[in-house]
Amino acid sequence: MEIKRRGLLLVLSSPSGAGKSTLSRLLLEKDEAITMSISTTTRSPRPSEVEGVDYNFVTIPEFEALVEEDGFLEHARVFDNYYGTPGAPVEKALTEGRDILFDIDWQGTQQLAQKVKSDLVRVFILPPSKQELEKRLKTRAQDSEEVVAKRMAKANQEISHWAEYDYIIVNEDLEKAEQELFSILKSERLKRERQTGLVSFVKELMGEED
Ligand code: 5GP
Repeated sequence: MEIKRRGLLLVLSSPSGAGKSTLSRLLLEKDEAITMSISTTTRSPRPSEVEGVDYNFVTIPEFEALVEEDGFLEHARVFDNYYGTPGAPVEKALTEGRDILFDIDWQGTQQLAQKVKSDLVRVFILPPSKQELEKRLKTRAQDSEEVVAKRMAKANQEISHWAEYDYIIVNEDLEKAEQELFSILKSERLKRERQTGLVSFVKELMGEED
């Protein structure tokens, strides 16, 4: 049996290279109730990226038009590009009891927190050390050296927002970090106010009429 519940919005933020993408992928592979929010961006696709799967890739004028139409739940400039979260799929998922995973930065998280309040669960992932973060960025190799240097410089700025999150995971061991992330998700799903079907379930349990 399953008790009806409202979905939740799980935000994962971290400096680039802290393992956020790997953890997101594992979560999406292993848990069928959560899907990824597909952001819209003006950044050029990386070789491995697919339109409509990793991002919706648009031009700057197209992005500006979407902002005008109020099509985004939140949007921000990150590095030299614009990123935004389309709003329409979110409310639909929440009412249908599906969860959405967000890979957005602290700016987007702050905007989202103002709009969706109690539907939001914020998780920040920290690397175990600065040296490890740099090593991970270099071995990722999808980006040029210049981009890596830029991202290292930005890491402190992103990390400085850690205290705005509900949960903090230090990703030293991937398996442990993954378990911690699953624990958070499972507990949050069980919160009384999310389990919207409880009222009628308990009534029935107590033999009361609806
Ligand atoms: P990347 O270009 O490496 O895919 O992403 C760069 C940064 O943009 C990451 O920190 C990522 O979290 C952030 N980002 C991706 N999509 C969105 C979005 O829709 N909104 C906001 N605010 N940030 C995003």
